[in-house]
Amino acid sequence: MVSYSARRYLVLVGLVILFWLGSILTEYLTSRPDPIYRHGDESRPVVALTFDDGPSSRFTPQILALLKNYQIHATFFLLGRHARRYPQVVQALAAQGHEIGNHTYSHLRLAKVNQATLAREMDQTEAVLGQLGARLNGLFRPPYSELSQAAVGYLKRTGRKIILWNVDSGDWRGYPATTIVARVLNNLKNGAIVVLHDNNEYDNANRQPTVDALRLLLPQMQKKGFRCLTVSELLKIY
Ligand SMILES: [Zn+2]
Repeated sequence: MVSYSARRYLVLVGLVILFWLGSILTEYLTSRPDPIYRHGDESRPVVALTFDDGPSSRFTPQILALLKNYQIHATFFLLGRHARRYPQVVQALAAQGHEIGNHTYSHLRLAKVNQATLAREMDQTEAVLGQLGARLNGLFRPPYSELSQAAVGYLKRTGRKIILWNVDSGDWRGYPATTIVARVLNNLKNGAIVVLHDNNEYDNANRQPTVDALRLLLPQMQKKGFRCLTVSELLKIY
């Protein structure tokens, strides 16, 4: 029979051990580098095309048709709000083997929201995407590429990978197709992550220039010897 004081002692020792393990875990989690990526392996002619703010009922299917022609897999950072509106487009994306990442539910400004709101938007988006057959692997692109220390801390703790880019197509500025093509080709390098847009946060963008640019860009990228991979293939993080 263990006496009362011995039990109290054991509970105390247990608590100390738990606290010690907890501090080791915290130390481990905070000492890891921030999971922020701007490009992949720079020694090989591989690149990743990424599309933000989709899906769009009008432009995403055109982009899918082009990518299929060239047997390319891209990465789409979807808004939960648009995914809910256009479920068939998300299903088509997933069925064609494209990679799908999270771009928040409503295009949040990360520097302006609290953690509870960010967590809710992340989870809501992943729930919608998961129901539509997307295999999610934690890829996240912050709207406006805006981050805060608190947001990075939360994303890191929850195993998300923050994917930025090092080639900006500029399509979001309303450039014509030829300018988009020139901007991408002039800056394309080994391991590049290219950012394009198949919609905007208000679901009212004209992305025809992006579609037309891709039609010109895909054969030229191939001619230059670049192979397109998904982000997780490019970064070899899964
Ligand atoms: Zn965006």
